Amino acid sequence: MATFIPLTDVRDARGQLVRRAIEAPMAPGPVVDTRSRPVADLRISVTDRCNFRCVYCMPKGVFGRDYPFLPHDALLTFEEITQVARAFVALGVTKLRLTGGEPLLRRKLERLIGMLRSLGDDLDITLTTNGALLARKARDLRAAGLSRVTVSLDSLDDATFRAMNDVDFPVARVLEAIDVAADAGLAPVKINMVVKRGMNEDSIVPMARRFRGTGHIVRFIEYMDVGATNGWRMDDVVPASEIVARIHDAMPLVDANPNYRGEVAERWAYADGNGEIGVIASVTQAFCRDCTRARLSTEGKLYTCLFANEGFDLREVIRSGGDDEALKRAVAAIWRQRADRYSEIRTENTAREPKVEMSYIGG
Ligand code: SAM
Repeated sequence: MATFIPLTDVRDARGQLVRRAIEAPMAPGPVVDTRSRPVADLRISVTDRCNFRCVYCMPKGVFGRDYPFLPHDALLTFEEITQVARAFVALGVTKLRLTGGEPLLRRKLERLIGMLRSLGDDLDITLTTNGALLARKARDLRAAGLSRVTVSLDSLDDATFRAMNDVDFPVARVLEAIDVAADAGLAPVKINMVVKRGMNEDSIVPMARRFRGTGHIVRFIEYMDVGATNGWRMDDVVPASEIVARIHDAMPLVDANPNYRGEVAERWAYADGNGEIGVIASVTQAFCRDCTRARLSTEGKLYTCLFANEGFDLREVIRSGGDDEALKRAVAAIWRQRADRYSEIRTENTAREPKVEMSYIGG
C-alpha cells in the first residue's frame, strides 16, 4: 500500500514542519507538468473492494478473506471527493471517471454523481464497472447525471469469462446490463476487454463481431503490469498490432483519428462504416507523452501515474482544514512537479518494482 509522501514538507528556522506547496501562493501561468502535459482527466476510486476476483487484477490467493481492505472511515466521503474534484475542475479537468474496485459497491453512488454533476453541466462524468450491479442501477445513475458507462467484459465464451472473473459470474448478465445501460441513455457504452495470451485471445474476433453495428465501442486492452500481485510477464501480452490484425482479417478496418489529445485508445473504424473499435496499447505503444490523467485513490491519495508506488495525501490537506484554495494550490504544485513516463521505460525488471494495486488506485 502506498505511503504518505509529504509534497514539500520542510522544517522552518524553528524546526517546525511547513507544508510549502499549500502555504505558498500559486505560481502564475498554466498548470502543466514538467513535460508540458496539462491535467484534463481525473479518475476517482470510490472503493478498493470488488465483487469479482479477476485473475489478472485481484487474484483470490491475494485478495482473500484476510485481505486488509480499507476501513470505512479511511475512505474519502462524498463531500471530500467533490471538494477534490472541484479543485481539479478549477485547474482544467473536463472529465471525471468513477472506478475502483467495483464502484457500484459504494452505497448511494448516485448521490455522489449528483454532487459531481453540480460542478458543471458540461463535465463528462463516466463510470467503469464490471456490470454485475449495473442493470438495477443504470436508470438512477443516469438520472443523477452520469454521462456514460464503460463495462468490462473479457469474453463472450461463458466458461472463459467465469474462469477469468473467478466468481462464476455469467456473460449473459453483463450483456443484459449493457442493454439496460444503453436504454437508460448511458450511451455509447464502451466495453473493455483485457486480452491475456493463452487465456482469452480466441475471444477477440467474436467480441468485435458481437458489438459491430450496435453503436457500442469495444476497447481491447493490452494486459498490463499494474500492481504486484498478478505475476505479469511480457509473454502474456498480446500486442495491439496483433489484436488489430486479427480483427482486420475478419472485418476490414481503417485507421481513425483520435477524438482529442491524450485519448487513451487508438481508434479503428470498420471499413464498411459499421462502427469502430479501440485498442489500448499501454505496453507496446506507450502514450505517456500525451497522458493528462490524475488518479485519486479511495483514501484520498493522488497518483500521477497508474504505475506509481507513492501518492500525495490530499485527505490530510482536507481533514486538517484546507479549503478549496489550499487544495487547488496543493494539486497544482503536485502536478507541476510530475515527470512520470513509466510505460516508456518499462522492462521485465521495472515490472517487478513495487506498485500500487489497480483495485486501490482505480483502473
Ligand atoms: N470493477 C470495475 C471494472 O471491472 O471495470 C472497475 C475497476 S477495474 C480495475 C478497471 C479496468 O481495469 C477493467 O476494465 C479491468 O479489466 C482493467 N484491468 C485490471 N487489471 C488490468 C491489467 N493488469 N491490465 C489491463 N487492464 C486491467
